[in-house]
Amino acid sequence: MSSVNVTIQSRVSATDATGGTCTPDLARSPWNFDVGSPAYGPGSSMDDVAPATTPRQGSIPAEYREASDAELAERIRAAKSTLGDDVVILGHFYQRDEVVEHADFVGDSFQLANAALTRQDARHIVFCGVHFMAETADILSRDDQSVILPNLAAGCSMADMADTDSVEECWEQLMELYADEDGDQAPVIPVTYMNSSAALKAFVGRHGGIVCTSSNATTVLNWAFARGRRVLFFPDQHLGRNTAKALGVPLDQMPLWNPRRALGGNEAATLRAARVILWHGFCSVHKRFTVGQIDAARQQYPNARVIVHPECPMEVVDAADAAGSTDFIRKDVAAATEPTVFAIGTEINMVNRLADEYPQHTIFCLDPVICPCSTMYRIHPGYLAWVLEELVAGRVVNQITVDPQSTREAKIALRRMLDAKP
Ligand code: SF4
Repeated sequence: MSSVNVTIQSRVSATDATGGTCTPDLARSPWNFDVGSPAYGPGSSMDDVAPATTPRQGSIPAEYREASDAELAERIRAAKSTLGDDVVILGHFYQRDEVVEHADFVGDSFQLANAALTRQDARHIVFCGVHFMAETADILSRDDQSVILPNLAAGCSMADMADTDSVEECWEQLMELYADEDGDQAPVIPVTYMNSSAALKAFVGRHGGIVCTSSNATTVLNWAFARGRRVLFFPDQHLGRNTAKALGVPLDQMPLWNPRRALGGNEAATLRAARVILWHGFCSVHKRFTVGQIDAARQQYPNARVIVHPECPMEVVDAADAAGSTDFIRKDVAAATEPTVFAIGTEINMVNRLADEYPQHTIFCLDPVICPCSTMYRIHPGYLAWVLEELVAGRVVNQITVDPQSTREAKIALRRMLDAKP
């Protein structure tokens, strides 16, 4: 199968005939998007608005921008070998192949943060993922370990949709609204998805809340319902809605909170009757999947097994055979003993890697347009070579540091998640 990188580079324009939003520059020269106003760059998040506070990546030396793929791969291997046990490289499932090939561990964000804990000898953790993932690794790592994000512009549009100021404002409004409620239960328990800033994880830690992943969202919601009348779930409305619906929460008890409107755009009575208040966030990669794509896949392969990620819209999850985290999808494919057709609704790099790993199956992405997570794609091998060679020279660049108070509070929320029992 042709790599995602090669496919994108064969494109000629930002809005080609396939309806894609990628350009060859996404794969080849992501540094071109580090100039000008903050933006996520071409790819699935291109139309999302990047906050003005989005971290910027300064330019890296021309030698890294101009080197061939083969030269960069060689330089990365050499630097990694020189650094030896001093460095551990983590690669997210959605990362491009040209980066993943150098990773010591490949997984989802929480698996990777935990994998780093097994390498206590490593002084440096190079996280080839996005900003919130590097923050989580910093929260969980020792104080004397540095966490490095090769390109500071590799953020996450979904995580950015729940900024702390808007969340604090929402919380104040809800506390005022529920002030006259009495009883043992808290009026609302905040739950944040792992895909959120360290500041938000600290916020939920401070307010009796908890973190969830796409693997344990059901357990976490049950934990929250045991302690509060309602849940405020952010940033991903789809994961919140899909999980709560599977637990039997009616849709009319799941209002959406729009941070730009008073009471999130809801009537007070609606918020009083709510069981789950969903933040107005989404993942632009998973939002691309549609019921029409599932219908088309089933038409071509009537026996196809359709599996989607729970960040997909509810109608898509309802139309699929199964929905689950990246780890769930991997395990589902690995468990198939007979040749099977898998139509998968998650990021293209991961789907292509599964197709390569399991050639006995037919595995394809539901979305025919190759359009990866644009922020994950900001980690070009040129950046990886740069941060590693800087480490060889004794310099730590692009370090991600979470302040001590946020670390303490976020750890409380993460600890609650780890202690929550199904
Ligand atoms: S796939 Fe979606 S949630 Fe994951 S990093 Fe990209 S934009 Fe964020």
